Amino acid sequence: MDIRKEYLEFFKSKGHEVVSSMPLVPDDPTLMFTNAGMVQFKDIFTGAVPKPSNPTATSCQLCVRAGGKHNDLENVGYTARHHTLFEMLGNFSFGDYFKKEAIAYAWEFVTVNLALPTDKLWVTIHNDDDEAYELWKEHIDASRIKRFGDKDNFWSMGDTGPCGPCSEIFYDQGEEHFSSSEDYLGGDGDRFLEIWNLVFMQYEQTKNADGTITRTELPKPSIDTGMGLERVIAIKEGVFNNFDSSNFQPIIKKLEELAKKKADKETIGSFRVIADHLRANSFMLSQGILFGNEGRPYVNRRIMRRAVRHGYLLGFRKPFMAKLYDTLCDIMGSHYIELVEQKEYVKEQLTLEEERFFKTIESGMTLFNEELANTKDKFSGEVAFKLYDEKGFPLDLTQDMLRDRNLDVDVEKFDELMAEQKAKAKASWKGSGDTASEGDFKAILEKYGVNEFVGYKNITIKSKI
Ligand code: ATP
Ligand code: MG
Ligand code: MG
Ligand code: MG
Repeated sequence: MDIRKEYLEFFKSKGHEVVSSMPLVPDDPTLMFTNAGMVQFKDIFTGAVPKPSNPTATSCQLCVRAGGKHNDLENVGYTARHHTLFEMLGNFSFGDYFKKEAIAYAWEFVTVNLALPTDKLWVTIHNDDDEAYELWKEHIDASRIKRFGDKDNFWSMGDTGPCGPCSEIFYDQGEEHFSSSEDYLGGDGDRFLEIWNLVFMQYEQTKNADGTITRTELPKPSIDTGMGLERVIAIKEGVFNNFDSSNFQPIIKKLEELAKKKADKETIGSFRVIADHLRANSFMLSQGILFGNEGRPYVNRRIMRRAVRHGYLLGFRKPFMAKLYDTLCDIMGSHYIELVEQKEYVKEQLTLEEERFFKTIESGMTLFNEELANTKDKFSGEVAFKLYDEKGFPLDLTQDMLRDRNLDVDVEKFDELMAEQKAKAKASWKGSGDTASEGDFKAILEKYGVNEFVGYKNITIKSKI
């Protein structure tokens, strides 16, 4: 079953307009990456722009949760369900239908279209949401509806704006997957797999002059939902771990072929991290996000260098990511056409960045291992900085390398050295003898005006819908 298509067609049949995935870089400086399906509708929900003529929509949105407010980078390879880049299926109502229909649609899709067994499904609601409780009871046994507080089941965009309780659907993967005390409904384990979040935007929060917050009922409440496609595919294919599904297996198989070794208990984490990061790096590049030392390009670089380090552990000493790209295109290219259209460019950029890091990774690993042998409780901030500055190891990469050993870096020292270096760079810039003075820049600014960077805005996503 093509679940993406099934979902979009299901909601289309319920009158929703099918809209394309928006770019990974949102037109919003406060947000690092598009991290949910609702991002492209934010201004409609807040009322900043008029509602569209069709008040309901559905999409399959590419999301990145790395480096921003939502950051799952640390989870990849450790949990069975998190990716840095994933596809979020969603249906949206802009002041049109509300809780009753949202719940009924979700239940119908999950139990009829996906045909998931009802004795494995659980739902969570907000403590105070009796309305949701009554509505869910029409569909599912009351013993399977659990109530939680604000932390788990209340959603808001920020201090102000629309907000409301949410309700989530979970799939019980079975007792044999109980892994830790985190494994309770709504917890951080993988046994109870969260598949779908239904947000009921029914309040508006405003900030008063004294800093307190007032919550008022929205006259026309809205709906925002998000379901992880990779998780649903894994469930439908009967595998516990997303990386064992057909979305990732061909990449892992290809990687085994290139590495000339089979994934085993020791190495499987590396295979998974590379498969995940290949997707994130490739989509970012295909949408114009390069590698760099700040902002989004630095997130792209950090993800890539983690992948390269895992490649190094598997025995690679030369670029390998581009060799996986055709397999990625086989899996996702028919829907995300830009991936295929940008093929040569993305492969070239992947390889260039890998080459940059492969130049220093060997000596960096030696430096790291030598220091590790001398480390008792904290890894030296000086060495972590040297790794960053001379060997191209981002701080979070060094921290990730220490994680299995329950060690961390002396971050305070690292930050101190970083601040020192920045101050030095600034001082040397002042004395660089550059002839352009502030006045010259002002004259240029007055003559030509501010130069707007339009690179990201001009990107069109050509995904088929
Ligand atoms: P989790 O608790 O598993 O981290 P979440 O509560 O952070 O998920 P939501 O913000 O509610 O996730 O997003 C809606 C849906 O998107 C989730 O129910 C899940 O199916 C999917 N999802 C969220 N984060 C990821 C991720 N990093 N990788 C894959 N799918 C994800
Ligand atoms: Mg999460
Ligand atoms: Mg959750
Ligand atoms: Mg959630």
